[in-house]
Amino acid sequence: MQKTPDFFLSAAGEVRGDLAIPRACWMKARLRDDARDDHMLIQIEPPVIGQTYGLGGQNIVDLIISTRHQGSSLFPITEWPSYIYIARMLDGTIAKTLFFTKDQIEIIAWGMLFRTLEEAIAQTTSACKCDLFTQLEGNEGENYARSHLAEIKTDQINWKTLYKCPTTGKYWREYFPFPEAHGGGPPEFVQISAAQALDEFGVTEPSAKPD
Ligand SMILES: [Zn+2]
Repeated sequence: MQKTPDFFLSAAGEVRGDLAIPRACWMKARLRDDARDDHMLIQIEPPVIGQTYGLGGQNIVDLIISTRHQGSSLFPITEWPSYIYIARMLDGTIAKTLFFTKDQIEIIAWGMLFRTLEEAIAQTTSACKCDLFTQLEGNEGENYARSHLAEIKTDQINWKTLYKCPTTGKYWREYFPFPEAHGGGPPEFVQISAAQALDEFGVTEPSAKPD
């Protein structure tokens, strides 16, 4: 493949290690399903190792990507990095029909798109440990939140804050398990689900989103 890549993909922080490697991407086609018409079929380099998906020696060279956030677009890509779902085709006819149903694809990871390989590598080697830890206490938690997590919302009544990992999309709640202690005691950071985040904070994304 000689043509300059259109962008770079990384699924750093996802469970399957092979996907964390930054990959060059070339746009191939725009796809639709029943719900939306803005999925993108891409070719990638290097290929994804197919063995993980029961494909034996056959590697995956085409993927389908879709934006995760409402209001962001791939046609054209409006924000960097772009947060996306990564899916593989279970049915090769998709590339011809440019249409698929839910059972013709499998979402294999969440990822991010970058303009340059350098940006993708910088993200991949970042300090995300959200797959290793689900709970952090005191200073360790505060340092981790400051250096890595994005603050979404603070609940000043209940003394808790919602954070989100920019790499994995996982949510963290900071709270004070011993509020009667002097100064509120040490904070504790625990991972919570998106549903829990929405239930407790009423949001899962920062509300003041620049347009
Ligand atoms: Zn993280």
